Amino acid sequence: PEFTSLPDIEPARLEIVKTQSPRLPPPASDLVFGHTFTDHMLTIPWSARIGWDTPKIVPYGPLSLLPSSSILHYAQTIFEGMKAYRDEKGKVMLFRPDMNMKRMNSSAQRVALPTFNGDALIHLIKELIRIDKHWIPQQTGYSLYVRPTLISTEAAIGVHPPADALLFVICSPVGPYYSKGFKPVGLYGTTEYVRAAPGGTGAYKLGVNYAPGVVAQKLAAKLGYDQNLWLYGPEHHLTEVGTMNLFVVFKTEDGSLELVTPPLDGMILPGVTRDSVLELAKGHASGQHKIPGLGDKLTVSERPVTMKEVKDASQSGRLVELFGTGTAAVISPVDRIGYLGEDVQIPTGPDGMGPVSKPIWQELVGRQIGTIPSDWSVVV
Ligand code: PMP
Repeated sequence: PEFTSLPDIEPARLEIVKTQSPRLPPPASDLVFGHTFTDHMLTIPWSARIGWDTPKIVPYGPLSLLPSSSILHYAQTIFEGMKAYRDEKGKVMLFRPDMNMKRMNSSAQRVALPTFNGDALIHLIKELIRIDKHWIPQQTGYSLYVRPTLISTEAAIGVHPPADALLFVICSPVGPYYSKGFKPVGLYGTTEYVRAAPGGTGAYKLGVNYAPGVVAQKLAAKLGYDQNLWLYGPEHHLTEVGTMNLFVVFKTEDGSLELVTPPLDGMILPGVTRDSVLELAKGHASGQHKIPGLGDKLTVSERPVTMKEVKDASQSGRLVELFGTGTAAVISPVDRIGYLGEDVQIPTGPDGMGPVSKPIWQELVGRQIGTIPSDWSVVV
């Protein structure tokens, strides 16, 4: 309430300073995820005294921070990840950006960073994308990964709500995750570390959630797996796959399929892709919006899943598929889980994907790139 009279983000105040030395975007085939950035970035400073200040689009370049800035000490940083797609006619679309704004505000609140009007930020992000849209490669599957970030910039040591902050948005042209067809990944069921706990921060997209995951990922790689599977609690509940949400498909006794994902219990990041997969599957199951190629006997559940259930289903032939979902890879099929010294085998279809993930992936990607019209796709 103390900030209600202070200005929110105001797109009308936008100032644009274009680069004097535009770069040539590299050939699409040279892109490595997250290594190339476009010519411009959006910056919006905030202070407790004056609220959200002038938004600026400026040449991509270094930020100036004093060593005392609290971001550098207490990791007061949150971020988002979303993609802008460009169709054959040059039309650029964002996928459900309102969901990212909602989540970013929820993350901000969790670490006492300032919240903002999400529609205003979307407006400014669109402006930035329009300026740098020639950086989106033409080839199918390529897109612009948009990374809004909000950091505390208060130049003072001491753990408290920051008095100064900076919101910035940078953009990175990226290729399709699976350029040569879907390659199922092997997961290491991590029992050495936990990602999140009740009352913790797992449901928010905070920088602090990611640094401790690096050693878990390193361990998984050392043991010969592609990614780590985050487990929780004495029963080893499956929670997330690396930096993706997780879905499992079981065959039930009556021969129908059950699509399961862990519930948003505070330990799961509310993924935009997770929500989209759920909504598509529920729409199909209810008959409201049938998805071509998806079987009729489908139920959709948000419920806890344990490693015992997955292992038993694998052994009895009731495990149909298991996959991760996220903005970067969209859907990532899994073919095995290393768990307590043995491998739990997971079926995968002929092209890597299973009977539920494949049709859902087709519908989802169609909506992202605009070949299937939907109100999830927002024109830039
Ligand atoms: N879980 C974690 C921990 C993540 O970092 C991400 C990536 N944002 C996801 C799940 C997937 O979320 P989304 O579908 O919104 O990309």
